[in-house]
Amino acid sequence: MRDNLYIGRFAPSPSGKLHIGSFLSAITSYIDAKHNNGLWKLRIDDIDSERSKKIYSESIIKILKDFLLDPDEIYYQTDHLNDYINYLDRIPKEKTYFCECTRKIISALPQHDIGAIYDGRCLNKNLYQGALRIQMKKINFSFNDLNLGLIELDKTYVSDFIVRGKNQFAYVFCCVIDDYLQEVNTVVRGSDLVFQTFQQRYLQELFSFPLLSYFHHPVLYDEVRKISKSDQDKEIHPDNRTEILMKILKILNQKINPNINSYKSILEHAIESWDIKAIPKSTKINLD
Ligand code: GLU
Repeated sequence: MRDNLYIGRFAPSPSGKLHIGSFLSAITSYIDAKHNNGLWKLRIDDIDSERSKKIYSESIIKILKDFLLDPDEIYYQTDHLNDYINYLDRIPKEKTYFCECTRKIISALPQHDIGAIYDGRCLNKNLYQGALRIQMKKINFSFNDLNLGLIELDKTYVSDFIVRGKNQFAYVFCCVIDDYLQEVNTVVRGSDLVFQTFQQRYLQELFSFPLLSYFHHPVLYDEVRKISKSDQDKEIHPDNRTEILMKILKILNQKINPNINSYKSILEHAIESWDIKAIPKSTKINLD
């Protein structure tokens, strides 16, 4: 890795058009990278073949262009299947086991805010096929988030997680390999991925990859619900780009200069006057 060069990224999943919630992630990661004279890379998280669609990756790339967020690299997970196979092979076999639990079985387990916590029921079955789980042992129970401060993992959340499903690799595994291959050193993303950070740091240590810095920004909520791909009314459109950028900068508590009106100048001013410490140190934030 080039010393001291900030390398950040935005990693949308192309399962829908870009909505204002993921656009907040794009803007925050882009401005932070550019404020630090760094690179900003785009990764299309298209490993999930059921949900990913080419029309959505094309539309995301176009929207970013229309909003003048130019990536320094575009990387598709689907171009890296061989890398995932190679790295999966490097995980010591005794750390993994096959699991045959169906969705139905998993959804019957006690549910927590991070989803179901797997109880390890396939660990001693010596199965030869199914999803591949890694034992989550000896993990670090805390890390220092650049926005949220010290985050401690509730020990009851520690459970063996899937690195490769029955038919495809899991996001949480691919992301670790991708960040390494893309030489990313700073991850700016939504706080809905805080828990996955523990799993990802566990894998980074296992592969002896450098540990990354994480900044988890608040996730946008519409009253009580997280804004998601199904909220078509929350899609963003370049016709309103100035309004959208202003809205996001306001949410991020950034200084706005009332004398600057054009989209390009507002973006440039935001990069120059970027104050990452002013971003609310919360996991959620309301849109209005
Ligand atoms: N692709 C993931 C998502 O859209 C984000 C991955 C990441 O930032 O690590 O939720």
